[in-house]
Amino acid sequence: MNQVAASSTKHPKGLWVLFGTEMWERFNFYGMRAILSLFIAEALMKGDTEASIIYGGFLGLCYLTPMLGGYISDKYLGNRNCILLGGTAMGIGQLLLFLSASQFGTNLSLATNIMWFALLVIIFGNGFFKPNISSMVGSLYPKEEKNKLDSAFTLFYLGINVGATLGQFICPFFGDVKNGDTRDLSAFKWGFLAAAIAMFIGTLVFLYLKNKYVVTPEGKAIGGKPTATDIPDDESGQAKFSSTSIAIAAILAVALTYGFNLLMGGPGVSPIKAWLYPFIFAAGISLAYLILSDKTITKVERDRIWVLYIVCFFVMFFWGAFEQAGSSLTFIADKQTDTRILGWTMPPTMVQNFNGIFVMVFAIPFSLIWIWMSKKKIEPISPVKQAWGLLLIALGYLIIAMQVKGFTLSSKVGVIWLILLYLLHTWGELCLSPIGLSLVAKLAPKRFASLLMGVWFLGNAGGYALTGTLGALLPPTPDKYIKAEKANINLADILDGKKEATGQELYTLAKYKISASIDYDKGQKNNLDFAKIFKVKDSVLTPQQLDVISKEQIIKVAYPKFAGFTLKTLYDFFMMFVILCGSAGLLLYALTPFMKKMMHGVR
Ligand code: GLN
Repeated sequence: MNQVAASSTKHPKGLWVLFGTEMWERFNFYGMRAILSLFIAEALMKGDTEASIIYGGFLGLCYLTPMLGGYISDKYLGNRNCILLGGTAMGIGQLLLFLSASQFGTNLSLATNIMWFALLVIIFGNGFFKPNISSMVGSLYPKEEKNKLDSAFTLFYLGINVGATLGQFICPFFGDVKNGDTRDLSAFKWGFLAAAIAMFIGTLVFLYLKNKYVVTPEGKAIGGKPTATDIPDDESGQAKFSSTSIAIAAILAVALTYGFNLLMGGPGVSPIKAWLYPFIFAAGISLAYLILSDKTITKVERDRIWVLYIVCFFVMFFWGAFEQAGSSLTFIADKQTDTRILGWTMPPTMVQNFNGIFVMVFAIPFSLIWIWMSKKKIEPISPVKQAWGLLLIALGYLIIAMQVKGFTLSSKVGVIWLILLYLLHTWGELCLSPIGLSLVAKLAPKRFASLLMGVWFLGNAGGYALTGTLGALLPPTPDKYIKAEKANINLADILDGKKEATGQELYTLAKYKISASIDYDKGQKNNLDFAKIFKVKDSVLTPQQLDVISKEQIIKVAYPKFAGFTLKTLYDFFMMFVILCGSAGLLLYALTPFMKKMMHGVR
C-alpha cells in the first residue's frame, strides 16, 4: 500500500537524468547565445545590424530543425541515439566556435568561415537533441501516470533554467572580458570553450546513466530504436506517409513560402525577414498537413492532433511578446530606464536575467500548485492554463504601459517595473511552456511523439519570427530625437507631419538609422546605390540627388504602424502586446470547452 502511495507521487529517477542532461545542454546553448552576437559584431567585425540579423536567423533555424530530428527519431533512430548525436554535434559546434575565435587577429576570413560552419553544426545538433529529450520525459510515464506530466515537465523546465542562468553567467564571465573600457576580443574563445565543456558533460551524463535509470519499471530501455512491436495496443504501427502526401506537402511548403514572402517581403526587407520567416511559417503548415495525411490516424488521434495545432498557433503570440526580452526590452532597459536599485546601478543587459531567476524560484511552487489542484479535482485542462499564460503576459505589459503613459523625452521608468514585468512574464511562461511540452506528450500518438514535439518547437520558431517583426515596431527612443536634434533636425515635427522633411534631412536620418526606411530598389533605379553610399565615410550627395530622394520617396520617415494603428510612444508599443496577447488569451479561453471535447479524456 505504502509503495503504491509513494509511486503515485514520486517521479521516476530517469527524470533526474534527463534534468541533468538538459541542464548542461541549455548551459551550452544560452551561454553561447549570450556572447554570440557580440562576437560576430565585434571580433568578426560584422557590426550590430548584421550580427542581429544573423542571430535572429540562427535562432529561427535552431527551432526549425527539431521537426527533422523528431521525424528521424520516430522513424529510424529513436530518442537515445538522436540525443547522443545531437549532443555530440552541438559540442563539436562549440569547439568550432572556439577555433573560429582562436583565429582572432590572424585570419579574419578563415575565422568567419569556421563560424558559419559551426552555426550550421549547432543548428543540426539542436534539431536532434531538443525534441527528443523533451519527448523522452513524456515516455518515462506509463499511461496511468500521465497526470504527473505537468509537474514533471515543470521540474524539467527548472533544469532548463538552472542551466540557462548558469550559462548566461559563466560564458560571458570568461568570454566577455573588458580591460577598462575596451573589450578584449581575444577572450571570446574561452566562453565558447566553456559552452563546449558543458555540452560534453551533458552528453556523458546521458551516455553513462541512461541504461541504469532511463528505463521502465520492468527495466526495459526507454527511447530505443522504433519497432512495430514495442508500440502498445491502439497506437501500433509506424508513421506512414504516402509519396503523394509527401509531394503535396513539399509543393505546399514552396507555394506558401512564396505566398508569405509576398506579404512580408518587399523593398528593403532583409532576406531573413523576406524568406526565412516565411519558410518557417510555411514549413509549419505543410508539416501539419503531412502528419494529418497519414492514413493510420484514428478519429480520436486526429482530434487530439488538431488541439495541438490550435495551441501551437496561439503560443506564437506568447513567444512573440516574451522574446522581446533580448531585443526591445533590453533597448528600453538601456535607454529609458533608471536602473538604480538600492544605490547600485544595474547593467541594462542584466535585467533580463530576472526571467531565469524567477523560473528557479517559482518552478517548484507551480509544480506543487498543479499537484494540489489535481488532488482537489480543480485542475483546469492544459489549454486553460495556457490561456492564463497569455493573459499574464498581457497583464505584464499593461502594468508597464500604465507606467510609461504620458512620458516625455527625459522620463525614465524605474527598473522595478521591468522586474515586475519579468515576474508576470515568468508566471505566464510557467503556465504555458512546460505545460505545452507536457500537452504534446499527452496528446501525441506514440508513433508521432517526437515529430509532434518538432511541431511544438516550430510554433516557437514562428514566435521568434514574430519577435523580430514586432520588435522592429519600437517607436523612436529618446536618443533618436536627441541625435536628430544634434544634426539640426526636428524629428518630432517631421514624424507628426507638421513639417515636410527636405532631401538632406531624409538622407541624414537614414544615414544614422533614425526611423527611416529606404527603398533600395527604387534607389538603384535612380542611380543611388545606398548600400555603397553608406559605406563611404562622410559621403555627400548632390542637390539633384537629394531632390530625387524626396520626390521619388526613396527614403521615408514615419512612425511604425501595426494593423492600421500608428505607434508613436512606448505606451502604444506596450499596448500592442496587451491587445495581441490579451485577445489571443481570451480567444483561446473561449475555445477551451470545444478543445476539451476534442482531447477525449486527456487533460
Ligand atoms: N527557454 C525554454 C527552453 O530553452 C523555452 C524556449 C522555447 O521553447 N522557445 O527550452
